[in-house]
Amino acid sequence: MTSLEHTGGPSLPQERRLVTAIPGPGSLERLDRKKAFVADGVGTTLPVFVVAAGGGVIVDVDGNSLIDLGSGIAVVSVGNAADSVVRRVQEQVAAFTHTCFMVTPYDGYVDVCEQLAELTPGEHAKKTALFNSGAEAVENAVKIARVATGRDAVAVFDHAYHGRTNLTMAMTAKNMPYKNGFGPFAGEVYRAPMSYPFRDGLSGADAAARAIDVLEKQVGSDNLACVVIEPIQGEGGFVVPAPGFLPALAAWCTANGVIFIADEIQSGFCRTGDWFASDDEGVVPDLVTTAKGIAGGLPLAGVTGRADLMDAVHVGGLGGTYGGNPIACAAALGAIEEMRGHDLPARAREIGAVMHSRLTALQEEYAVIGDLRGRGAMMAIELCEPGTTTPDAARAAAVAAYCHSQGVVVLTCGTWGNVFRFLPPLSISDALLHEAFDVVAEAFASTS
Ligand SMILES: *Cc1c(COP(=O)(O)O)cnc(C)c1O
Repeated sequence: MTSLEHTGGPSLPQERRLVTAIPGPGSLERLDRKKAFVADGVGTTLPVFVVAAGGGVIVDVDGNSLIDLGSGIAVVSVGNAADSVVRRVQEQVAAFTHTCFMVTPYDGYVDVCEQLAELTPGEHAKKTALFNSGAEAVENAVKIARVATGRDAVAVFDHAYHGRTNLTMAMTAKNMPYKNGFGPFAGEVYRAPMSYPFRDGLSGADAAARAIDVLEKQVGSDNLACVVIEPIQGEGGFVVPAPGFLPALAAWCTANGVIFIADEIQSGFCRTGDWFASDDEGVVPDLVTTAKGIAGGLPLAGVTGRADLMDAVHVGGLGGTYGGNPIACAAALGAIEEMRGHDLPARAREIGAVMHSRLTALQEEYAVIGDLRGRGAMMAIELCEPGTTTPDAARAAAVAAYCHSQGVVVLTCGTWGNVFRFLPPLSISDALLHEAFDVVAEAFASTS
């Protein structure tokens, strides 16, 4: 045991261990309490109640140890309770917990902004503002783009997910469960067709031309403040645009004075095998939004980008009570230390290679797997009726239920709910990863 004396983290036994049904009696009892006190609108994917987590496992109140292929939705990329995160958070929480950076500042905030300037794509002068959640970062990126351009319109894409606040609901594509009944939504948001090679068969250049045509004809580039896009879509189904799509879109934005905003909230911080997914094709966004993987589980988000754009906003125009909270900043500095120290972009590529080979074998065996896509430790399979693009969400639900019952945490996503997304913590061992995919294979066998 380290001097930290924490019970989770990388020192937890790295094993899948089932001692009860999933969920077990302890979790079922707690589910009754949840039912009594927590709003029903807050759902749970796999209702085991957690007492510890780390490396590649999650341990529940009944003593079951589950393999984690979800990372709390791409958040604990450095692993749960990672050593550097725990150490820095403990030091910070004992020193001071909050002052509000807008009242009396502190180093941690500036340190995180310096790291973001260095790590995000491009060598130009960059600045950052910090917030609490991904949605808040996206909203602020739009605010900055509007002030910097003097234009109103915002372009987003089919299958996009940008959050659950009013503006970001308008930007998110999928109605259920994110938007249904929650309108009216913010105006001046326009949706363009996404490059989705499995479904449209278009080259990146052709898909970009199609999207640009919609924007030119239906919005007009002179009215457009920004284009906001996930370089690999998250909730929308891990859709990877065809090569050339993102560079063409970014070039069109630059030529027309439109701010190109990469929403890297899910794809960023080593997940795809690069520091940011935009790096893969050398795309340099004007602004980048970050959250999720940035701080090892503490709530932190950022907008980072061209200094001239970031500084277009009047003093006092950006901020918030908790944005860049000192404990969250300490966690981010710890997480970045883990990413650099363990070369987690390289580890994401190794994990991606294992997942790709396991999933390729599965795809050869099961015709229901219509598409295999993704990069690094952000990989997905889309389930469709064999030989078609007709979604098979029922099979996806059955496979997920089997995995959950066998102690493997898997997540589905996609507009039709028929996509499995695999995004394990980058601290997972190869042995656990293989065991998890053994279970995924069993799940396909037992649900055919
Ligand atoms: C999760 C997510 C958001 C919203 O982040 P929250 O922290 O949940 O508000 C925005 N964009 C993308 C791409 C995301 O994956």
